[in-house]
Amino acid sequence: MLRLAAYLAASALYLASAAGVLAADVTDIRVVGDEARTRMVVELTGEPRFHILKLDAPYRLVVDLPETAFEAEAAKRQALGLVADYRFGQIAPGKGRIVLDLAGPVAVEKSYLLPSVGDQPGRLVLDLVPTSRETFLKDVGQEATRADRAQAAPKLASLGKGDRLGQSAAGKPVVVIDPGHGGIDSGARSSDGLFEKDITLRFSKALAEALAKSGKTRPVLTREEDIFLSLRERVEFARARGAALFISVHADTVPQDYVRGATVYTLSEEASDVLAARLAARENRADVLAGLAIEDQPDEVANILFDLARRETRNLSMRFASDLVADLGAAMTLNKKPRRGASFRVLKAPDVPSVLLELGYLSNELDAKLLKSEEWQVRATEAVASSVEKYLALPGIAGR
Ligand SMILES: [Zn+2]
Repeated sequence: MLRLAAYLAASALYLASAAGVLAADVTDIRVVGDEARTRMVVELTGEPRFHILKLDAPYRLVVDLPETAFEAEAAKRQALGLVADYRFGQIAPGKGRIVLDLAGPVAVEKSYLLPSVGDQPGRLVLDLVPTSRETFLKDVGQEATRADRAQAAPKLASLGKGDRLGQSAAGKPVVVIDPGHGGIDSGARSSDGLFEKDITLRFSKALAEALAKSGKTRPVLTREEDIFLSLRERVEFARARGAALFISVHADTVPQDYVRGATVYTLSEEASDVLAARLAARENRADVLAGLAIEDQPDEVANILFDLARRETRNLSMRFASDLVADLGAAMTLNKKPRRGASFRVLKAPDVPSVLLELGYLSNELDAKLLKSEEWQVRATEAVASSVEKYLALPGIAGR
């Protein structure tokens, strides 16, 4: 029964597909109607091929498009009727996506594309009506799950090329730097419209540069542009490279705007406090936000050797996290409680010591200002880089 539920949750179905040109330019997205019937109208140029997927847990509808320029304004979106929220953006190179969070199970009564005529834009129209949970789940079939996976597979393959062992060809330990969020998942947003995904990418690139400059390690970024990566892809990226260290970079918002300063998180079954638990829960939603079917990974086979490796990895992660906090104090403002633990999915590689570095909180005015400052970034990346190098130079660490 449990297995069936997990299977259903992980499945999706292609409902519609229309042939047409390959690129689109979305100029506006509107939602009209009420709980009895909700219509989404996507104004676009061209006649793009589109696919609709249904996803469960939570109820979502995914509209996949080819290479798409989104000119619609995210800030102007309004949820209505059966659509609780929606977002759009790039999900992979050449793939645009709109994800609808549904207020409940829906049926897609109609979906069609009206080509543009004269100076009138084309329209992609979805008509949604309420349905039962059973009916919704019936449409959630196996075929599209495979399609969903097939989309993810080539991306992973291309990411996986490179060094496969703990050290690069040049014998330097590999440090995987993971700029949080990206593409359709913008992450947090500051009051003046700064996106977390841009801040994390900028910082990560600067950190990689700082590490490359001194040449003691080999830094690699999980993403170098504004693209979406699932949490699992980030973890697998680090594992495939045999990383000696994985650092996921974030700058989130929290409801308490007085909370500020850098925080270093490690993986822990039990969150160290409410703030850490909430943050992990939000971070773990990245895949859901992007309209991916969440595959609940079964726990790896119980294996004593595996358990030992995991315990060693956890000890190393904690060691590095403590060192990092100690080293950062001089260069960055630290959070009142700078070392925390929570169940972040992105930290779950069993064999790569991993930490999540919250640079600061975009919800705090002072932090947001610092995160934009070039001078702060130089100071902060140099401090992180030297801490990383110090840790990897410890006897027996990098050459595991
Ligand atoms: Zn984040």
